[in-house]
Amino acid sequence: MADAPQSSPLVIPSLERLGLRRDRPLVIVDVDEVLGLFMAGFGAFVAERGYELRFERFALFQNLYRPGEAEHLDIAEGRKLFDDYFRTECGVMEPAPGAVEALNRLKPRAEILILSNAPADAERLRGEWLKRHGLPHSLVLSSGPKGPITAGLVAQTSGRTAFIDDLLPNLDSVANHAPQTATFQHVADLRLRPLAPRSARHPRIDDWAELGAAIEAAISG
Ligand SMILES: [Mg+2]
Repeated sequence: MADAPQSSPLVIPSLERLGLRRDRPLVIVDVDEVLGLFMAGFGAFVAERGYELRFERFALFQNLYRPGEAEHLDIAEGRKLFDDYFRTECGVMEPAPGAVEALNRLKPRAEILILSNAPADAERLRGEWLKRHGLPHSLVLSSGPKGPITAGLVAQTSGRTAFIDDLLPNLDSVANHAPQTATFQHVADLRLRPLAPRSARHPRIDDWAELGAAIEAAISG
């Protein structure tokens, strides 16, 4: 979850400047609902402010309510809560079960880049969150469909590449712009899993131990 609208012109970060080698496999991993339990964290944040996050559809702003009401909050109000969350509290959420262990197992075999569609304000808290949980912390914040930036990143490596996200628009975008990259869908939140659309284009693996093994197979050989 936590997709943000396209706003700024595309800048392709340099792997070298991110501290990543260009001669090893590259694994690009999303944060919200992949490495971290975003809906749980954001749900707690809005509850403290007197709102409810319901799990009625695979969407964010249409699931925000005032308690007892049948109509969801204005999208603009939801957007403000979302921005406030990223600015002040996105460093608090829990990692997705098994994610830390799975990435630690991949580390000897691949360069790992965290690619998150989060507001620029979130950079410090998000970076600290990754470090606190022992996750790889080469972090790029982006916006909009992730295919173009992923294509620019994978063009810099001679190794095999993989991409993991919860959102089909990002996965489809990567499959279209960087077809040599293996794509995997992962949805961390148990309540979202039955609501999340899936696609035959991208293996859906919600268990991180299994997902880690599938990524390893995709980048080997
Ligand atoms: Mg996500």
